[in-house]
Amino acid sequence: MVKAIVGANWGDEGKGKITDMLGQEADIIVRFQGGSNAGHTIINKYGKFALHLLPSGVFYDHTTSIIGNGVALNIPYLFNEIKSIVDRGVPSPKILVSDRAQIMMPYHILFDQYEEERLGGKSFGSTKSGIAPFYSDKYAKIGFQVSELFDAEALREKVDRVCEMKNIILEHMYHKPAINPDELYNLLLDYKKMVEPYVCDVAAYLHEAIKNGKSILLEGQLGALKDPDFGIYPMVTSSSTLAAYGAIGAGIPAYEIKNVIAVAKAYSSAVGAGEFVSEIFGDEADELRRRGGDGGEYGATTGRPRRMGWFDAVATRYGCRMQGATEVALTVLDVLGYLKELPVCVGYEIDGVVTKDFPTTVKLAKAKPVYEVLPGWNQEIRGIKKYEDLPENCRKYIEFIEKEIEVPITLVSNGPGRDEIIKR
Ligand code: GDP
Repeated sequence: MVKAIVGANWGDEGKGKITDMLGQEADIIVRFQGGSNAGHTIINKYGKFALHLLPSGVFYDHTTSIIGNGVALNIPYLFNEIKSIVDRGVPSPKILVSDRAQIMMPYHILFDQYEEERLGGKSFGSTKSGIAPFYSDKYAKIGFQVSELFDAEALREKVDRVCEMKNIILEHMYHKPAINPDELYNLLLDYKKMVEPYVCDVAAYLHEAIKNGKSILLEGQLGALKDPDFGIYPMVTSSSTLAAYGAIGAGIPAYEIKNVIAVAKAYSSAVGAGEFVSEIFGDEADELRRRGGDGGEYGATTGRPRRMGWFDAVATRYGCRMQGATEVALTVLDVLGYLKELPVCVGYEIDGVVTKDFPTTVKLAKAKPVYEVLPGWNQEIRGIKKYEDLPENCRKYIEFIEKEIEVPITLVSNGPGRDEIIKR
């Protein structure tokens, strides 16, 4: 049984918490795309952790955590992340890394920084983790697969060939120091040592696991609106954030994904540049940011303040549809208890016409939010375990959202902890 846990919005929806919770009953958790550019925050008996590359299952001794072929694998980062959790008392997790995963090279990270510098005010608001240069190289067929570390001769030849090309760009476009191919080659030999214990034919492993009826979670990063095809292009990430890509990025048949849990936040937040129709500003935004998430809405990787907004039913319905959501987990609802009124964006006005369909970026830039205002519940809802025990206006808010997004909300998260969840 394969389940995908993916974002319905712009990321930071609380997928980490939902994966951590569902991981209690899972045998295997797979990361299938993205890299160390986004973080999951997880709170459990060992403490509070911000994971960037490791799947959220690493805290369980019964789960195997997998870095799928679709991931941008930063090897020293992975190595240090494993060390950092083990140093804090978490038992050594069982980790497998796909032999077909590609390696984040130090120059990818540099190119990301140099390009943001070059673009100045027109930058994409990249986290500068090298993601865009990494995926560009993968599809330009000059990336390095983990498997290639194990053929020394071919590796050496390829390092020279790739450096030649990268150095021309470094010198002439960015006016930065060249890469030394000898140093890069030696670094890759170090990478090989770091990753060797974890390398595995993951597709074959998962094939067996599915045959044996194992429970598998695919853990997505970011959200539908950051997908390169269906998101707010070009202010998107460089790998598909959709559940469908989970099949490719893990190496399993598409038809095995039976269940897609789209995680949606009870209000909106986004990092980086890009259209954000229901965005709010000033004191209103500051207050929500300060109260939001667990200790404020600041990026788990970058610490950047997140942009805040009201719940956007247009974007979320679209996000759920593109994810193929079979159910929705609505998170951080507890944060909204201070509000007297809750605007929900139910339509976009574009050139005088109101639509409920999420448009392409060109039209999105002209969209103005159409709000329906719901009454608040003015109450702390943390600690509530049963749906019926939620204040009436809170239930009305959930049910209103459910009707708008057209997918059943089966999980309501009312606190950052693993057990702070209401099942419907
Ligand atoms: P992810 O990337 O989708 O896993 O999301 P993040 O971890 O970046 O952001 C979610 C933040 O909200 C984290 O700080 C979580 O601890 C926190 N969080 C998750 N669910 C809830 C919730 O129901 N209530 C509150 N208050 N915080 C939550």
